[in-house]
Amino acid sequence: MDLAGKTAVVTGASSGFGAATVRKLRDAGVRVVGGARRVERIDADVALCVDVTDEDSCVDFVAGAVEALGGIDVLYNNAGLALGRYPFTESNPGDEATVLHTNVDGAIRITRLALPHLRDEGHILFTGSIAGRQAYENAAVYVAAKFALRGFVYGLREDLLGRPIRISTIDPGLARTEFSLVRFKGDEAAARAPYEGVEPLTADDVADCVLFALTRPLHVNIDEMVIKALAQSSGGRILRRET
Ligand code: NAP
Repeated sequence: MDLAGKTAVVTGASSGFGAATVRKLRDAGVRVVGGARRVERIDADVALCVDVTDEDSCVDFVAGAVEALGGIDVLYNNAGLALGRYPFTESNPGDEATVLHTNVDGAIRITRLALPHLRDEGHILFTGSIAGRQAYENAAVYVAAKFALRGFVYGLREDLLGRPIRISTIDPGLARTEFSLVRFKGDEAAARAPYEGVEPLTADDVADCVLFALTRPLHVNIDEMVIKALAQSSGGRILRRET
C-alpha cells in the first residue's frame, strides 16, 4: 500500500522508535504530527507537546493534531518507558504510577481521543514489548504494564471488528535507544550494561516493522510482530560475547 498523502500521529516522537518512525513515514510521503514532552527534539511536520499521563494535555494534543492534519490515517501509540531494574520488594509508588500511567493509561487515552478522527482505512499501532508476552526478573511493574497494553489491544480489536480500521502491535526485544538511560534514571554506566557483548535492535529495525504493517494490502491485518536481537531468546536470556 502506498502511504503518500496519508497523515499520521506518533507519540514518543522525540526519541528512539518514535523518532525513527516519523523519519520513515515522512520519507514515504506521510504528513506527520509528532508528540512528546520534549517538543524541541521532535523532527516532524508538526511537533506538539504532550504528556500522555495527563488527560488535558492529550485533549489539546489530539485537537492540535486534527487541526493540523484534517483527519488521521495512522495513529502510532509508542510513548512509554520502564523505571528501574529491581525486585518487586523494592518497588515504590512513584515508579509504579509513572510506568502504568504512561504505558497503559496513556495509550488508552490517546486512542480514545483520536478514534473519532480516524479515517476509514486507518491504522492504529502500538509499541508493546516482549515484556508483555513473557516475564523477566526485576521488571514486574513494566511487565504488568505491557501485558495490560496487550489486553487492551485485544479488546480494542474485538470492538472495532467490522470497521475498516487495522490494529497492530509491535513487540520489540532489546533495542538501543534512550530507553535504558531513562530506565536507569540517567546513570550512563548502568544504561550501557544491557547492550554489552550483544548487538541489539536499532530504532530503525523497529520502525521498519511499523512500515511493513502499514504497507500491507488493506485486507491484511498484522496483529502482532515480535522482533528480537538474534542473540536474544527472551527478556531474560541474552547470549553475550566475552568482552
Ligand atoms: P526512548 O528513546 O526513551 O523513547 C521514549 C519516547 O516516549 C520518548 O519520545 C519520550 O518523550 C516518550 N515519552 C515517555 N513518557 C512520556 C509521556 N509521559 N508523555 C509523552 N511522551 C512520553 O525509548 P524507546 O525504546 O524508543 O521506547 C519507545 C517504546 O518502546 C516504549 O513504549 C517502550 O516501552 C518500548 N520498548 C522499548 C524497548 C527497548 O529496548 N528500547 C523494547 C521493547 C519495548 P519525552 O521524554 O520527550 O516525553
